[in-house]
Formats: sequence, structure tokens, C-alpha cells
Amino acid sequence: MNKIGLYVHFPFCKSKCKYCDFYSLSDRSYARQYAKALKEQIVAFGKLAKDRVCDTVYFGGGTPTVFPTELLLEIIDTLKEHFRFAPLPEWTIEANPGTVTLEMLGALRRAGINRISFGVQSSDDKLLSQIGRVHRYSDAVEAVYLAKTAGFDNISVDLMYALPAQTVEGVLCDIEQVTSLPVSHISFYGLKVEKNTPFGRDPYLVLPKEEEQCAMYLRGVELLAQKGYLQYEISNFAKDGLYSRHNLRYWRREEYLGFGAAAHSFFENVRFSAPRDLTAYCALDDFSLQSEFYSQSTVDEQEAFEEELMLSLRTSDGYAIAFLPPQSKGYVTQLLTAEYATLADGKLRLTPKGMLVSNAIISDLLCML
Ligand code: SF4
Repeated sequence: MNKIGLYVHFPFCKSKCKYCDFYSLSDRSYARQYAKALKEQIVAFGKLAKDRVCDTVYFGGGTPTVFPTELLLEIIDTLKEHFRFAPLPEWTIEANPGTVTLEMLGALRRAGINRISFGVQSSDDKLLSQIGRVHRYSDAVEAVYLAKTAGFDNISVDLMYALPAQTVEGVLCDIEQVTSLPVSHISFYGLKVEKNTPFGRDPYLVLPKEEEQCAMYLRGVELLAQKGYLQYEISNFAKDGLYSRHNLRYWRREEYLGFGAAAHSFFENVRFSAPRDLTAYCALDDFSLQSEFYSQSTVDEQEAFEEELMLSLRTSDGYAIAFLPPQSKGYVTQLLTAEYATLADGKLRLTPKGMLVSNAIISDLLCML
């Protein structure tokens, strides 16, 4: 039976971070109505996926842990009722430091959530406040230990680099700090300034110079490896093989269904998404795919081929060289000579240096198709 992943979007946060372009609001008065709508969509999509078994579930946002715990538990029950599950599924919840209690974490763990991902971003309190985070680093340390006490053995943290006024030493210090915690997975992202955010609108925003940003990434990747965190994707690192099974599904073009406002799905070769509109989502009375609510597009053969190339080069799986056109041979040789990529077992894999410029490499290769 084919496998599927489920994603549930919780578009609520305590307040908005200055760089964030995700769909989330600080007004949580819609929580109950939103939970009701989510349950209706779960029932509708459960019918679609009758012949699939689910092996990963991901609660993302926003900040799912600012959503009332009793409603989170109801969503978990509804998913279990309407989908068939494989043995030992991965259930992840995203959380922010300062939004969890031992009681809440214990309830989520008992309900089956077995992986938690904290948005830590930095160990520097001054920097945290500059980017609009509402927690301090000590809250992050406390949250990780609370999760451990509540029975979570698979804990992930997010860190950011290329933040305003950040230094290479600061980034390495962040990595030293978080790797001394009981975390099995680290996501290490560079700041991207998006137009419709306070950072995007700030004419005085000064970011570290490009060569400094490169050094942050390359030295960060090196230190993570020394600490035992293996890179399996441009921004993701895991110990003891504890990769995010759910996120791997995106990079491997496997099917998933998304629930909630702004959630995306990929099912039977169609990509579809709900609009970034909480009130419209809550007011919807037809969640079936016949509804005009969703934007839908079928992926044709050429697009599927391009997606496959783009996504697999992001990961340590790499891309089968046999699928590249003959005219790319010279370019691939250049990549190998300049140590942007390696070639082994018939797979082209980007090195960390290549991952830094992966967008340019991927678009060069796409032009040759
Ligand atoms: S906590 Fe996360 S989702 Fe919420 S505003 Fe900040 S970055 Fe965005």
C-alpha cells in the first residue's frame, strides 16, 4: 500500500518575528472555529486517501504549541480516526521556547507525538530581540529539557545565520551551545529577507557581508559534522540517522496532504493549496477537492523531471548522473574540478561549497535540459 504524509498548519503565533513570511497571526480568537474546520477537512481528505497508509505527520505553523492543547489532542484523535497508520509513524510538532509546559508536553507525548522541533534561532539574547523573537536563550534550554523529561528522545532545534550584526564566531558559539543539549537534529538556515516583512521594508537593515555569510555556513557545517550531526540536506543535520522523515518526503517527491489555511498538498501528481486566509477557511462548507477554494495544478512530465533534479540535489541522496543530458557533461566536469560536487555510485552530490550556490547550479543544469 502506498505511503502518505500529513501536514497540519496552525497559523497562530505569540507575535510576529521581523523576518517571517509564513502565514501566521497573533490573534488566536479563531482557535475553536479553526479546529472545527480542520476536523471537517480531515474527514474529507480521509476519504481521498483510503488506500494509503500514513507514516509521517507534521504539525507546523505558526506555532502549534500556542494552540489550545485540548484542541491539538482533538485534531490528533480525528487524524487517527480517519487515516490508516503504518507501524511506528513519525509525529512531529513545531514549538517555540516559552510556549510549552511539562504538562502540555506530557499530554502530547502520550497522544503519540514523538518528535519536537524548537525554533531557537540563536543563543544570543540581544540578537533574538533584534529579530523579533519573544524568547531568551535560557527559555530554549528549559524547553529542550522539559521535552526530554516529558519523554521526547527525538528533539530538533532551528538555528539561523546571516542575521544582522551576527559574526562567524557568534554562529559557531550558537552551534557549540545547542550541541551540548540533548538534541538529535539541527536545522541551520540562512536568513532570507522577504519583501513583505518588517526586515524587507527596513531601508537601514545591514546584513553580514557575503563572504562572511559563506564562512558562517561552511564553518557551521564543519562544526556540526565534528559534533556528529551529519548533513542530509542543505540546511538539515542529524545524529544517529534521526532525519526528519516528513521533510525527506518533500525532497523525495512523495505524497502528502496538507490541512489548514495556506497548507500545500501533493497527491496523485497534483499540487494544490488552500489560500492564506483564515476567515475564508473557517467559513468553508465544502472541503472536498471539487471545491474552488483550492488552487490546483497537475505536474506534467517535464515539471516532474525538473522538480526531481532540483529537490534531489538539495539532499545527500544526490541525483543520478544517467538522467542528466549529454550536453551537461562539460558543466558537470567543471563542478567536480571546482569541488562543488562529487560523483560516486552514479550519483552527483553537491558538497557544502556547492550547496552554498545550489540555486545557481540547479538553474544552470535546468537550462541544459
Ligand atoms: S515564531 Fe515562527 S512562524 Fe511565528 S512569526 Fe516567528 S518565525 Fe514566523
